[in-house]
Amino acid sequence: MENQRVFNFSAGPSMLPLEVLQRAGAEITNYQGSGMSVMEMSHRSKVFQKIFDDTQAKFRAALNIPEGYKVLFLQGGASTQFSAVPLNLIGTTGKADYAVTGNFSKLACKEAQKYGAISVAATSEDKNHTYIPAQEQLKLDPEAAYFYYCANNTIYGTEWQYVPETGAVPLVCDMSSNILSRPVDVSKYGVIFAGAQKNMAPAGLTVVIVKEELAGKELPYTPQMLGYKLMIDKDSMNNTPPCWCIYILGLVLDWLESQGGVAGMEKIKHGKAKLLYDAIDASRLFTCAVEPGSRSDMNVVFRTGDEALDAKFVAEATAAGFTNLKGHRNVGGMRASIYNAMPVEGVEKLVDFIQAFDKAN
Ligand SMILES: *Cc1c(COP(=O)(O)O)cnc(C)c1O
Repeated sequence: MENQRVFNFSAGPSMLPLEVLQRAGAEITNYQGSGMSVMEMSHRSKVFQKIFDDTQAKFRAALNIPEGYKVLFLQGGASTQFSAVPLNLIGTTGKADYAVTGNFSKLACKEAQKYGAISVAATSEDKNHTYIPAQEQLKLDPEAAYFYYCANNTIYGTEWQYVPETGAVPLVCDMSSNILSRPVDVSKYGVIFAGAQKNMAPAGLTVVIVKEELAGKELPYTPQMLGYKLMIDKDSMNNTPPCWCIYILGLVLDWLESQGGVAGMEKIKHGKAKLLYDAIDASRLFTCAVEPGSRSDMNVVFRTGDEALDAKFVAEATAAGFTNLKGHRNVGGMRASIYNAMPVEGVEKLVDFIQAFDKAN
């Protein structure tokens, strides 16, 4: 095993495509004749500016981002956006709606309460976040400055299968764990943000897509580094951006293109998830608590109902080269995170392993 790569089902930071790692490796000491690593370059250099501009262009193309939106490459992780979103947007009416469908939207909702009147427009807490509320269940305030939701609940294994209709109220969405896995109609959103470490790049980069007309109305005490307007005006370079992560994102976007872009990826990832859910549903031992119709294509949660047997599964799977399958402590059981970079082969082999374990126990 020692020299082999494992099938890494980590929820994040998670797998990157092997081709990307190999390319980064080949260029690591001398990037395209520059005589230095991308890690060692000035962010103001011509060489890096080209990496930055190309990555921006590839990202915009991948998600078909329309005019009027700016893509920001920031730091601080998705969690910093839990503060940045209300600081930048809530000032217009002082109110915002939040859908609480898991751990991260709950944290975002709590943080936003510091800055305005927050209404819980929907919550799935009654059933331990095993479903996504339907449009009819959303209690919408037409005066909300924005409606906030998390598209894919990494811990609970649920994913919104529709885009909420909120009339004139701008949508804000945390897409940290499913960005670039499917097409998105960006024009429906005010702000989309995502930490890079699930589906895009190493940890350290946060991508924020902002509708430009919403920027510039931040609360007066907004820390300058959290202000969207400043970062729009400075093209993400008020200070040193996460250069290495931006470079890797560029390589990941080249790889994504070779997979047919987000439309190609949508088919691939849905096929992978279906393989796993079908195996779980057909098994004698395993169940998935998430309601069909709310199941995530990115994070598949399952369990036997017996903690000792779950632990045995995780231990045997790890020994067989399937790592990081232990579920989050809030949920227990198992979780297989099958982001874009997880090859179909990894899922097929895990399905074989699940079936063999199901027979033997
Ligand atoms: C991982 C994750 C976060 C937290 O990201 P950080 O970059 O660690 O702050 C937030 N939201 C979702 C949906 C996530 O999956």
